[in-house]
Amino acid sequence: MTLTALAVLGRGLVDPATPLLRADDLGVLRGDGIFETMHVRSGKPWLLDEHLARMARSARRMELALPPEEQLRELAEVACSAADPAIENTLRLVCTRGPEGADTVTCFAGIAPVTQASVTPRTRGVSVNTISLGFTAGARGDAPWLLGGVKSLSYAVNMASQRWALSQGVDDVLWLSADGFVLEAPTSTLVWRSGDRLLTVPVDATGILPGTTARHLLDRSFELDLAAGEEMITAAALTAASGAWLLSSVRGIAEIRSLDGVALPASPDTARIRSLLGF
Ligand code: PLP
Repeated sequence: MTLTALAVLGRGLVDPATPLLRADDLGVLRGDGIFETMHVRSGKPWLLDEHLARMARSARRMELALPPEEQLRELAEVACSAADPAIENTLRLVCTRGPEGADTVTCFAGIAPVTQASVTPRTRGVSVNTISLGFTAGARGDAPWLLGGVKSLSYAVNMASQRWALSQGVDDVLWLSADGFVLEAPTSTLVWRSGDRLLTVPVDATGILPGTTARHLLDRSFELDLAAGEEMITAAALTAASGAWLLSSVRGIAEIRSLDGVALPASPDTARIRSLLGF
């Protein structure tokens, strides 16, 4: 990912190659910070309110003192004002804790083009294997220190999980709880169809990240003549669903076309969902 524009809180737009963080910033040393990634549409960050709300929630759980929401909103908008409207872009809003003892976080917003790796799965779908996350579905609900539902900068496990997918010859993975439930993917939320309902995994019961894209879809499922709900599901039950998708802000929608080597039939809902989401 190469930035094409960069805005820094308190400084406005700067050259995207500007060095920003101190070598002792805890965001760099320990992944101690939070971020949000958004799709930029018509020069504006899509679902900005929802992303700012999730960032505020992550900050509370991490005991990070974020600047006022208006300042983050302005930072995001200033960065987007420098995005090339002729190409599809992403916006990444980052807040690090700063050096030990710092009383303000370091915040910046970077723009980068959407890569082909995000665009292709929207129409081609993805092959997925399940892998264990090692704890039970309820473990994070009882353990705030596990930071369930927080979008922290500590994404090493998420990235390692995606590298594992590639090493196994598939496009992505779905994390399983130790008690056999499907949770989420390392950078996306699971949604599936069961009868006339679109379903996703409950956030509070599992500590998964509350996905803004999945929420946006489920809140509008009536436009597809479908109801919406939250349920726990096993991998075996998922292979019997009449459609399963990974949803996220930039890739948008990726239909799961195979799960643990079992081919899943293409769903006629995929195109309808993609159009509802505007991808
Ligand atoms: N789950 C995880 C772990 C994620 O990292 C992401 C996005 O980055 C998602 C789900 C999907 O969230 P959103 O739809 O808000 O992009």
